[in-house]
Formats: sequence, structure tokens, C-alpha cells
Amino acid sequence: MTKGKLIIISAPSGCGKSTIIGEIIKKECLNLAFSISATTRAPRGEEIDGVNYYFLSEEEFKQAIANDELVEYEEVYPGRYYGTLKKEVERICNSGKNVILDIDVKGGINVKKQYGEKAVSIFIMPPSVDVLRERLESRATDTPEAIAERVGKAEYEISFAEEFDYRIVNDKLAEAVKETEQIIIDFVL
Ligand code: ADP
Ligand code: 5GP
Repeated sequence: MTKGKLIIISAPSGCGKSTIIGEIIKKECLNLAFSISATTRAPRGEEIDGVNYYFLSEEEFKQAIANDELVEYEEVYPGRYYGTLKKEVERICNSGKNVILDIDVKGGINVKKQYGEKAVSIFIMPPSVDVLRERLESRATDTPEAIAERVGKAEYEISFAEEFDYRIVNDKLAEAVKETEQIIIDFVL
């Protein structure tokens, strides 16, 4: 069984990364563990510190950057930083598992560059920008302003899809999960 490989899942917000990762991570044969990122944004809904994210203050995040504790980081939205912790990736690799990352498009490209053959990068596409907007509205976790911000950014982010190893359109969820699973099986098994 392989360990220490990285599976990068990127997409504009609302395309279904969390949903797909939630399904994939249940498949024990893939030996995956989720890389919990650090962020300065506030917890949303039922999110728990140390489970969904490590929620840091801006000062703590800047200290982590200064201490070179991050594999990569981005100011994904103005004033809101997100980053992959070196310790987190090491912890998972040392536990004998493969790492699955839910990170933004720039971050995904960055991690793939750093890890090369040890990583596979997958871009999740929405069926259309209109469908993406509808999904963000029905997720009901963001304000109308935040939804407009996320949709506005999506078209720009989709222009980077070709830089990923694979692209999957998340139309029917079960099919998108199956396609993602097959890519991971081919990569890790
Ligand atoms: P992301 O993690 O990329 O921001 P989510 O996984 O939170 O996206 O998905 C955004 C919303 O769209 C959620 O409410 C989710 O239940 C819904 N969703 C995800 N995939 C599908 C799909 N294939 N068809 C319909 N709704 C979906
Ligand atoms: P959300 O606020 O919806 O949880 O996440 C917003 C965006 O930040 C998503 O596109 C998510 O993939 C991205 N993100 C989460 N963690 C990281 C990270 O560690 N690094 C980068 N670059 N982006 C991240």
C-alpha cells in the first residue's frame, strides 16, 4: 500500500470539493487523510477548530509565515488567508497515509510544482457558472455579497484548469465521485 502521496483537489468555491472529498475519504482502501489547512477566516456553521481548519488570528498566521511553517499560502479572499502546514503534511505522511488537500487553484498549482511526481492534481469544474451560483445559494452558508465574490472569481479560476493533471465536471455527484476515485486508485494503488 502506498503512503506519502499527495492528492490535490482544487476548484472555485462551491464546485463540490468538500462534498467529493467527503465521499472519497470514506474509501479505506485509498488510505487517505485530509490535510487540515490553517485559515484566518471565522468558523462557518458547524466547523470545528482542528477538524475542518486550524483557525488562526492574522497575527498567528503571519508568525507561521515568518517561521516558514507553510508549504504554501494564499490570500484567497481579501484579508482572508489560507495555507497548508508543513507539519500537517508530515504528520499524515508519517502516519503511513496519503494526503488529500482541498485548496484553492493557485495553491493547487503551487503544491503540484513542489511535489512533482509525488502529487496528482485534480480540478473540479462546475457544469456552468449559473449552476455554481445556484449551488452556493442553496448551500446557504454565505452572504449574498460573499456569493457574488466567489462567483466573480470562478471564471478567472476556471482559466487555470488546463494546468491540472485532470479535470472533472461535477454534474452528477455520483459520477464525479467515481471518476475522482478512479484517478486516485490509478495514482496510489
Ligand atoms: P466546495 O467545497 O467546492 O466549496 P461544496 O462541496 O460545499 O463545494 O458544494 C457546494 C454546494 O453544492 C453544497 O451545498 C453541495 O451539497 C452542493 N453540491 C455538490 N455537488 C453537487 C452536485 N453534483 N449536484 C448538486 N449539488 C451539489
Ligand atoms: P472556504 O472558505 O470555502 O472553506 O475555502 C475557500 C477557499 O480556500 C477554497 O477554494 C479552499 O479550497 C481554499 N483553501 C482551503 N485551504 C487552503 C490552503 O491551505 N491553501 C490554499 N491556497 N487554499 C486553501
